[in-house]
Amino acid sequence: MESSREYARCVLHADMDAFYASVEQRDRPELRGRPVVVGGSGTRGVVAAASYEARTFGIFSAMSSVEAKKRCPDVIFVPGDMARYARESRRIFDVFREFSPLVEGLSLDEAFLDLTGSERLLGPPREIGEELRRQVRLETSLPVSVGIGPIKMVAKIASGAAKPDGLVEVPADGVRAFLDPLPIRKIWGVGPVAGEKLEGLGYYTIGDLARATPGELRRELGDWGEGIGRLAQGVDLREVEPHREAVSISEENTFPRDVQDRAVLEATILTHAESVARRLRRQGLLAKTVVLKWRIGRRVKEGPRGYPARTRQITLIEPTDDGDIVARSARSLLTDALAEPVRLLGVGVSGLVDEKGNSRQLALFAEEGSGKAAVAPPRRRRLNRALDQLADRFGDDVVKRASQGDARHATLSGQWKKGSRDTHGPEPESDSAEE
Ligand SMILES: [Mg+2]
Repeated sequence: MESSREYARCVLHADMDAFYASVEQRDRPELRGRPVVVGGSGTRGVVAAASYEARTFGIFSAMSSVEAKKRCPDVIFVPGDMARYARESRRIFDVFREFSPLVEGLSLDEAFLDLTGSERLLGPPREIGEELRRQVRLETSLPVSVGIGPIKMVAKIASGAAKPDGLVEVPADGVRAFLDPLPIRKIWGVGPVAGEKLEGLGYYTIGDLARATPGELRRELGDWGEGIGRLAQGVDLREVEPHREAVSISEENTFPRDVQDRAVLEATILTHAESVARRLRRQGLLAKTVVLKWRIGRRVKEGPRGYPARTRQITLIEPTDDGDIVARSARSLLTDALAEPVRLLGVGVSGLVDEKGNSRQLALFAEEGSGKAAVAPPRRRRLNRALDQLADRFGDDVVKRASQGDARHATLSGQWKKGSRDTHGPEPESDSAEE
């Protein structure tokens, strides 16, 4: 059937190999062939990226630096340079966009490309994928792996299977054979907790889930179960979306030592709030809800989830993109967090609306400077714009209000984490590991 083939989706997932570590090894020849970890070497440092040499020792992203050192005493820690990685990212995405107008970035170093219909122009998908790998290598001297499949999830799993520096193509009629033997945790959105639950019900492989009936899955797991069952069968209607709308933006940090001092927590809140607000303004968004998140310093059970997370949130009268308003709102939620020392503190915003959204329209009716709108008054808006330009040129750390004091970004020690959640992809349950 010629016509159905013509309309079958073809999705490519490109993912740089050990991105931060590869950039370091490229730029510092003395690191090539050595076990390299990008991340903080301190007692609470976390591995942000591990070179393939480090991985042979069992070192992986999101592992504690202490554990990494235990597994390989000779491992070389590199603090990392986010501005340099962001520059590389722009070059990589420029290459991606030569292959498809539909590029959906997932992070600095990975993206979905919709190749549907580009066959006539660029040749068969595998050739397009190999050409993309060549171009990225030519442009940046960095390795990239590529997965190709009829749906996003399959393309993403395929690029993982292709690592390092390879390409895996899964044809539409080979999806079940490819997915069936894989462990259920390979399904998008199945993290450790959901994984345990599914295994408890006797589902170990994607094939186990694919063979269950929708009725069974619904009974055992509700709507979510039915959705997961469809994914297991390779049915995924999500399209590549170049402009996914974020539904939340957040930033959090882990302290070197647990903190109960209100002044330190308030300064940290301001740092996060400014950063979150800057990201709102860059995307032309306003937020209706401010969330404060913390983890208590007391371990209540074994494992990475041993320190429970708490959140409080507040809904604003009018949406905002101003760091000071975000900070004040988050500070108003601090009381509960002061009950005992905290290990981690984060600020997030949700209920995002774009500039064309209703709320923004309302704000437009307010006289400028009347103080009615939670959108910053003109003077602060000018200040915000100037700060944004500075941050764009010199990095977020340059721009800081005096009151932020000592709450510094731990420049990519891995202890500082930025997050966004989008409307479409499944919610990752745990920190996604940079590969
Ligand atoms: Mg990667």
